[in-house]
Amino acid sequence: MALPAHDIADVSLAAEGKKRIEWADRNMPVLAQIRERLEKEKPFVGVRFSACMHVTTETANLMRALKAGGAELSLCASNPLSTQDDVVASLVHDFGISVFAKKGIDRDGYYRHINACLDIAPHQVFDDGCDLVNTLHTTRTELLPNVTAGCEETTTGVIRLSQMAKDGALKFPMIAVNDTDTKHMFDNRYGTGQSTMDAIFRATNQLIAGKVFVVAGFGYCGKGVADRARGLGADVVITEVDPTKALDALMQGFRVMPMKEAAKIGDIFITVTGNRTILSKEHFELMKDGAIMANAGHFNIEIDVEWLEANAKKSSRIRHATDEYQLANGNRILLIAEGRLVNLGAAEGSPAAVLDMSFANQALAAEWLLKEAAKLAPGVYEVPRAIDKEIASLKLKSMGAKIDTLTPLQEDYLNSWEHGS
Ligand code: SAH
Repeated sequence: MALPAHDIADVSLAAEGKKRIEWADRNMPVLAQIRERLEKEKPFVGVRFSACMHVTTETANLMRALKAGGAELSLCASNPLSTQDDVVASLVHDFGISVFAKKGIDRDGYYRHINACLDIAPHQVFDDGCDLVNTLHTTRTELLPNVTAGCEETTTGVIRLSQMAKDGALKFPMIAVNDTDTKHMFDNRYGTGQSTMDAIFRATNQLIAGKVFVVAGFGYCGKGVADRARGLGADVVITEVDPTKALDALMQGFRVMPMKEAAKIGDIFITVTGNRTILSKEHFELMKDGAIMANAGHFNIEIDVEWLEANAKKSSRIRHATDEYQLANGNRILLIAEGRLVNLGAAEGSPAAVLDMSFANQALAAEWLLKEAAKLAPGVYEVPRAIDKEIASLKLKSMGAKIDTLTPLQEDYLNSWEHGS
């Protein structure tokens, strides 16, 4: 069998990748059910998709579902460190999907892959962080007339898209998959929470119990990380700029303080804000010898790595994925995964059981767009509520849980305004 177009590290890793893709599939029952239906109905015949996502076992199963539905597909990485080379090999070799991704690729290679992925001239796109959509709107504008719509996976991407829409720059409708309840309440919270701890373990093998664990940002990802750290016995400190979120953290029993204070007492720092320069020179210089830092927020701009690179007296890789920087004051501070998304750079990202829902949303939103895209003006849209609820129901069922339904009396009560006390 001729292989589809690709640029990958090593095709001989395919057998290992296939086993891991199948393992993830076992934990993705909702997506598997959707794949079976798509395989019968073939709604995507004649449709070309370009996807820019983390190339992991879970994404592989989303690609399988789209292909089963008849789509022609190409995939590239949304982050240079999260690519799993065995999965890439299997997608190309065993599943006949065109992939352009190599773990650890440099910035030029990263954009070369996005461009190669776009060469398919997509009708619909899938993005995670908005780099592919951005490339389409800046350097590949000749492809824009073909594109009918797309789906965005993550918080940061939705923020960038909303900004593009506000400036009138966005040329097609994009669905904010991140904003469904079945995505952000589970993937962002339990997925990022657990996999961030997993990454710290793999990279540093640190004991969490008894440590001062600082979490910058109390959004869904930050809440997840803070809960898991508390569960492991850490003394958790939250830093925030939003008074409501800070109050929420305080009433959940976390300590709340400005980063300048937290910097002095923290043993481990995790940034999850979606903003930039959260930990910088002014904080590094206050930190204790041996403090560990990592970022679980979108891009590698939350921790000022450039400053560390330029100003540290010494730096060295002391463990897998962990670099140590010695500052002028003599203290050594550590950085995991080069300040990139740690849960995907030093571990495997969210587990399959939560991505089951995220990617069920992706598949169903893409199918919905086949009929609806032509009616939508350029802009950012929500996944229809009915799809979100359906995914929650299917997931509950797959977990063996049953719930009540409203009685006619209850439904009537909820739908009327006449009942008083
Ligand atoms: N492209 C940016 C975007 C943030 S990634 C970057 O890499 O820096 C965060 C997103 O990754 C989340 O929305 C989550 O849904 C997704 N994700 C987490 N674990 C994943 C996995 N194992 N496979 C694929 N996507 C994953």
